[in-house]
Amino acid sequence: MSNPIEYLKGVGPLRADILKKEVGIYTFNDLLLYFPFRHIDRTQITPVSKINSDTEYVQVKGKITSVETLGERRGRRLVATLYDGTGELELVWFQGINWIQKSLHVGSAYVVFGKAGFFMNTPQMTHPEMELLSEANKEAKNFLEPVYPATEKLKTKGLGGRQLGHLTARLLQLLSENDIPENLPPDLLSKFHLIKRFGAIKNIHFPATKADYEAAVKRLKFEELFISQLRMGLLRFKRNTYSKGHIFSKVGDLFNDFYTNHLPFELTGAQKRVLKEIRKDVGSGKQMNRLLQGDVGSGKTIVAFMAMLIAADNGYQSCFMAPTEILARQHYEGLKKLAADLPIKIGILTGSSTTKEKREILQATLEGEITILTGTHALIEDAVQFKNLGLAIVDEQHRFGVAQRAKLWDKNELNPHILVMTATPIPRTLALTAYGDLDYSVMDEMPAGRIPIQTVHRMAYARPQVMNFIKSEIEKGRQAYIIYPLIEESAKLDFEDLMRGYEEVKAYFPEPNYYISMVHGKQKSVQKNTNMERFVKGDTQIMVSTTVIEVGVNVPNASVMVIESAEKFGLPQLHQLRGRVGRGSEKSYCILSTKVKLSADAKERLKIMCETNDGFKIAEKDLEIRGPGDIEGTRQSGLLNFKLANIVEDRKILEAARLASEKIIAEDPTLSSHENQGLKTHLENEKGKTAWSKIS
Ligand code: ADP
Ligand code: MG
Repeated sequence: MSNPIEYLKGVGPLRADILKKEVGIYTFNDLLLYFPFRHIDRTQITPVSKINSDTEYVQVKGKITSVETLGERRGRRLVATLYDGTGELELVWFQGINWIQKSLHVGSAYVVFGKAGFFMNTPQMTHPEMELLSEANKEAKNFLEPVYPATEKLKTKGLGGRQLGHLTARLLQLLSENDIPENLPPDLLSKFHLIKRFGAIKNIHFPATKADYEAAVKRLKFEELFISQLRMGLLRFKRNTYSKGHIFSKVGDLFNDFYTNHLPFELTGAQKRVLKEIRKDVGSGKQMNRLLQGDVGSGKTIVAFMAMLIAADNGYQSCFMAPTEILARQHYEGLKKLAADLPIKIGILTGSSTTKEKREILQATLEGEITILTGTHALIEDAVQFKNLGLAIVDEQHRFGVAQRAKLWDKNELNPHILVMTATPIPRTLALTAYGDLDYSVMDEMPAGRIPIQTVHRMAYARPQVMNFIKSEIEKGRQAYIIYPLIEESAKLDFEDLMRGYEEVKAYFPEPNYYISMVHGKQKSVQKNTNMERFVKGDTQIMVSTTVIEVGVNVPNASVMVIESAEKFGLPQLHQLRGRVGRGSEKSYCILSTKVKLSADAKERLKIMCETNDGFKIAEKDLEIRGPGDIEGTRQSGLLNFKLANIVEDRKILEAARLASEKIIAEDPTLSSHENQGLKTHLENEKGKTAWSKIS
């Protein structure tokens, strides 16, 4: 199975090179795992006269009546005519012209396959797959023939989707069940009614019936998801079992003093539960790696703070990393307030700290004078050295790259405990696949007394009413946000919109009765911070801003959130933005303002936003609408690139695979038992193919 692909008869060094470069097929094994994307019924031949505008892939049988090259240079193309007795089909090539021209013979009969279309009312096929009728008749035909994804380059070198099928068929004839041994334990096969690996691989390529094909896909999807769950589960298990961590053995004076004397509110049940989970981790002697999922406003910050107090009680420093300067600053202010009566020092380090500030902070951090260091990703720079870092907390983690998080680990000889907090919930399937190696806490309870935010959708022409509504809220002493999109692709226009919007708002709310803050990414940090602080203090009643305030900002007195051009935002972003209101004891409103004409997806998003405040539900819906390919932060990681499985459609299989893998890890973590030998060998063979160590 690990033989280089060039040793397969019919491949050779030249084609092997193309297979490697174009589709990453290096070995026999790789070829077998290059699955067809569809099957065609080889018994089905379509007459040319039956081709119409709805026709997709078809197979046509006929004689070549003419071949000629047309056009010059870039317009050069090869055009052949195929006649089947019912009509003429035009065959066109733009690439590999010389090679194909040599191999086409006028007067010979061919079976051609491809996507049919029309050009000037003539049925046409571009870059069809060609096979001499005499050749096509030679091979015993399956009822369902595989069609493989093939690039233009492959096609022009005689490695089109059909030829790949021939190669795969040839390879399969050479192989027996011993070459493709079973890797799943027998009881899993019987429990989930899965066919064996050998049969599945044969049948995903060359099924006799549709049912055979489906059984093969089911088996291989399960395998794919199960192996990935097992791998991450084993990582988690190994870390929890063998990786040493700092031991925070006690809850001491700082924590107790804060808990009894300074806690500003009663903790929710979820907050207490998560704190317990964290305490258990950090007291275990193993390194903690925990993902904390909580909806916007569920109160993750205080949980983080109290975890840092436990670290401090045990003589350790902590750091608290935020994705934006504004948020880092706000955390800094917030933590200082919480710690006002406690004997600890909190510092902040961001990109805009002055050289002098930086020097002092770095010194104090190194000497251990600073107990909690907050900041942006400036924290992960090499210059930042701690005396004794015991706990690293990453807030709103989806803004950070995986690699950035990993850098925090190296800040102490013994890796610090890691707590990663999400800005909004991640769908469970995504958490299982992309973050499956982290332990996982959920805060699914909101602090008591919150009144649900009322969300409405208004067209842009209702702006005067919206402004009047804001006015009435301000009269009650509240504050309002007005958010404009600023998207990279349309940055210039968006910026103009923002400025126009600001002028308009100013006209509605003139000084000195009203004051407005404006914050956007083009401002200097100092200016941003000043404007932000004026709003936080209540000196300004309205905050006009781009999404720089999206994450985490906390102004409980704000009760209105207007989102302009809301159709341009994704669901998680809308939910995150909306989370800026509804933080106080007053009823809050979110107004989604859009143009009149909207895409179906945009309508769906707005509808969901108006229907629910539940971030967990919104996350699931988002994954459903967008599909897994597009989720922020996971795109580069390649973690969701399953060959067959789709974590949205196959979530049931994923859940089953998860449970099954957990059971195996609990019973036989070293995979030593006889039944698990297939798994063990499989994992060993696959080692090094994916950079699993990079995850988390
Ligand atoms: P998020 O989880 O979105 O980061 P925050 O930690 O910013 O949420 O908390 C949101 C608001 O709720 C803050 O004003 C915080 O002080 C308040 N809060 C947190 N926990 C509680 C609680 N148990 N009871 C009442 N208010 C709380
Ligand atoms: Mg937060």
